[in-house]
Amino acid sequence: MDFSDFQANVPLAPFTTTRIGGPAEYLFIATKQSRLFSVLKFVSSSIQNSKLKIENFHLLGLGSNVIISDSGLPGLTVINKATGIKVFPKVYQSNKFSPTYTQRQENDPQNYLHFSKIDYDESGLPTQEVQILAGNPLPLAINQTLSLGLTGLQWFSYIPGTVGGAVYQNTHGGKYHFSDYLVSVKVFNLETGKTKIYKKPELSWGYESSFFQANPHLIILSARLRLFKGDTKLAKQVSTAWILQKSKVQPMNSAGSVFANPPLELCFAEWGEQKSTGWIIDHELNLKGFAIGDAQISEKHSNFIVNRGHATATDYFALVKHVQKLVRDRFGFDLIPEVKFLGNF
Ligand SMILES: Cc1cc2nc3c(=O)[nH]c(=O)nc-3n(C[C@H](O)[C@H](O)[C@H](O)COP(=O)(O)OP(=O)(O)OC[C@H]3O[C@@H](n4cnc5c(N)ncnc54)[C@H](O)[C@@H]3O)c2cc1C
Repeated sequence: MDFSDFQANVPLAPFTTTRIGGPAEYLFIATKQSRLFSVLKFVSSSIQNSKLKIENFHLLGLGSNVIISDSGLPGLTVINKATGIKVFPKVYQSNKFSPTYTQRQENDPQNYLHFSKIDYDESGLPTQEVQILAGNPLPLAINQTLSLGLTGLQWFSYIPGTVGGAVYQNTHGGKYHFSDYLVSVKVFNLETGKTKIYKKPELSWGYESSFFQANPHLIILSARLRLFKGDTKLAKQVSTAWILQKSKVQPMNSAGSVFANPPLELCFAEWGEQKSTGWIIDHELNLKGFAIGDAQISEKHSNFIVNRGHATATDYFALVKHVQKLVRDRFGFDLIPEVKFLGNF
């Protein structure tokens, strides 16, 4: 494999949920795990021979959490579309399942989401393990595991990313995080050109954060999850109800929540109670519907920025900076973006 195997100067906007972003200098779409492996081997040797800098390599899943700059991405971008699932036969009779990061209450359930209406406890049920390739979209993984009689992933319904993106971001659905279900992660190390399986306790996990965010040389190949032999009918109902709730307030032509919620201590100091970033942008800044170019604070949810037609990354970034400045000037703290800005900003 070499650079002549890649497409040159390909627009990346169609590979993102916002449809924003310039071209990849080189693009490779990996539709099979063997192809992903070959390209990662090539990238690794190119980095080791100083033909490619690691910062000029990007791997994307479904592009649902990134904003790519208008000038695009230099070097090579790989889109991971390799799907697959394997189930392990052993059934475990007991488990000690408990969600890890439940420190926050629900945010403004009347205006946004009401997770406690659909939540139920699956701890104590027998479990079984599956291995899912990183390129698998989450919605597909939910359907596949339910068809295998396994539950647990229903909480991640309506999240448009891949399993790789869910591990990278430690994606949350309601009060559950993806790491709650993880047993191990298989990884390709671009610095050594070798694969390694990390057990979950060997890696650090947090609210919307993982070890991988600080280690861009580690590419997630697959995730091994322990799921419940639970009530699949109930899980399907919950998945449908959750999709219905979320679709009313979370626009798909976005990159998900723009900012993390402020730390609880800041909320208590300012408002005497927990507040969400959406509530602050909506009620304190009055910015619902405000736009720069075609990047607009969503009418459905103020912590989402939508592309209402021809938004550029420059529009999106300017809107993010505008909100941050207003919050800093008025309340004295910085809103931290959850979306990832890739390329030149
Ligand atoms: C309507 C909507 C609703 C959303 N709801 C939620 C929600 O409820 N909870 C939530 O947490 N998020 C939510 N998101 C955000 C987003 O969908 C998730 O963060 C998702 O996990 C991102 O996955 P992706 O495959 O699209 O990643 P991408 O956007 O393609 O990439 C994001 C980052 O992950 C890295 N990455 C992707 N795959 C790999 C891999 N295999 N190895 C190493 N790094 C990798 C990329 O390099 C990049 O840095 C939502 C987004 C939208 C548009």
